[in-house]
Amino acid sequence: MEENGMGKHVTHWIGGAAHEGPSERRGDVYNPASGRVTGTVDLAGPKEVDAAVAAARAAFLGWRDTSLSKRTQILFRFRELLNNDKDRLAALISAEHGKVHSDALGEVSRGLEVVDFACGIPHLLKGGYSENVSTGVDAYSIPQPLGVVTGITPFNFPAMVPMWMFPVAIACGNTFVLKPSEKDPSASVALAELWAGAGLPDGVFNVVHGDKTAVDALLEHPDVAAVSFVGSTPIARYVYRTAAEHGKRVQALGGAKNHMVVLPDADLDLAADAAVSAGFGSAGERCMAISAVAVVESVADELVARIRERVSRLRVGPGDDDRSEMGPLVTREHRDRVASYLESGVREGATLAVDGRVHPVLGGASDGFWLGPSLLDHVGPEMSCYRDEIFGPVLSVVRVEDYDEAVRLVNDNPYGNGTAIFTNDGGAARRFQNEVQVGMVGINVPIPVPMAYYSFGGWKQSLFGDSHAHGTEGVHFYTRTKAVTARWTDPGHRPEGGVNLGFPTNG
Ligand code: NAD
Repeated sequence: MEENGMGKHVTHWIGGAAHEGPSERRGDVYNPASGRVTGTVDLAGPKEVDAAVAAARAAFLGWRDTSLSKRTQILFRFRELLNNDKDRLAALISAEHGKVHSDALGEVSRGLEVVDFACGIPHLLKGGYSENVSTGVDAYSIPQPLGVVTGITPFNFPAMVPMWMFPVAIACGNTFVLKPSEKDPSASVALAELWAGAGLPDGVFNVVHGDKTAVDALLEHPDVAAVSFVGSTPIARYVYRTAAEHGKRVQALGGAKNHMVVLPDADLDLAADAAVSAGFGSAGERCMAISAVAVVESVADELVARIRERVSRLRVGPGDDDRSEMGPLVTREHRDRVASYLESGVREGATLAVDGRVHPVLGGASDGFWLGPSLLDHVGPEMSCYRDEIFGPVLSVVRVEDYDEAVRLVNDNPYGNGTAIFTNDGGAARRFQNEVQVGMVGINVPIPVPMAYYSFGGWKQSLFGDSHAHGTEGVHFYTRTKAVTARWTDPGHRPEGGVNLGFPTNG
């Protein structure tokens, strides 16, 4: 990334260095808090994608055969450098995404946890060994890397989501091409520079910036073995289908509509705190954000009152202002789309309990992409504000009769990323964890993002493919297993020889 009088210019990272060639197309990079363009990003075409994949391919054999000890040393160094550089990375994220600094630091820390996990790769890559499966014959399995793998990631976690993928992929011996969101591209280049500082060989980690053109070139590239995608459901479905048609292993994580179920015996203060932090943190632009509160009618008025009171105290402002708790939305179009659900919700019969359009902004709203926290009450499952993923600071309260209606609501929803139940009844919570059709479940915990040694992923239309991200599922995704059957003749005991055309059996 370079700075000049025209603002920053973000380019690709290929073969261990910033790409120098000219770019036919460029996109603008905004600061969402000011609404101003702060730089440009190169948008790759097939040529740049080819160059990145070729660099990754050239690096593969060497990296694959690099010892586990050496790989681990590089991972530890990367971890150290990243940890030291957290603040700078968070500032880069905040300036392009809009999230507040503490939240950006949080995402880097959650990404670091995956690096921690990947540092234990020697243990994770142990295969199995069985002695004497037949007389004098041993059998074992070897997990091996796939080759060049790619990650295509969304705007909302420009550091953490790529780090769900590449630490594990690289630790397993693959080489990686990252295609981050073109909306906030700088963090990925900063990560590439840290890898170089850690001594990762050139070409093992590459970044190509771009849009659909770059994504399509990766999905169709004959030298790409696997695709990890995180983004919205329509694109996840498209990526899954296209990459699978081109013979690749794919995991494509999609959108979400996360429900929080509140039973009458819940601690309502805990539930209200959770609804506000999980609904409005990062301006609701988290795939694990709570967007629907399914509350049992008998406590609904009380819960709504407590949420309203908390929302009125939220400080909305620029990400680099320490007082801010919530920043702007990522683009003007997205801000307008999110705000349109306040109008459609009211038109379709909901009550606007809190209107974020009039929420004050620290330092004045300027031309940034501002929308304060909003609360829609009396929302019905047929309304568009309930059906669609809004991906902004809008909480919809759906009043339900009882536990059964709440679970039906969650299970009828086409998405199945995250959910949470708030209750003091252990039996109800246990039933919920068993019955709910969702991949990640919280019990009195609003954003149940799994630790790095578990795996992250939803069910239903929140995931296309079989493997979740990171944890042991991540290791399985980035490796394939070879089963070896071996006979070494004991010099003191030769087995009876002779040709035998029968199917091999054990004895
Ligand atoms: P998006 O789907 O618009 O973009 C994701 C990636 O796909 C980006 O790299 C983008 O450049 C690329 N892309 C966009 N349009 C494309 C097209 N037509 N063809 C090929 N590639 C295309 O998502 P976004 O707006 O960046 O991110 C927000 C979405 O991501 C939300 O739906 C959110 O729920 C989802 N998300 C899901 C998870 C999860 O774990 N399930 C995590 C984070 C975000």
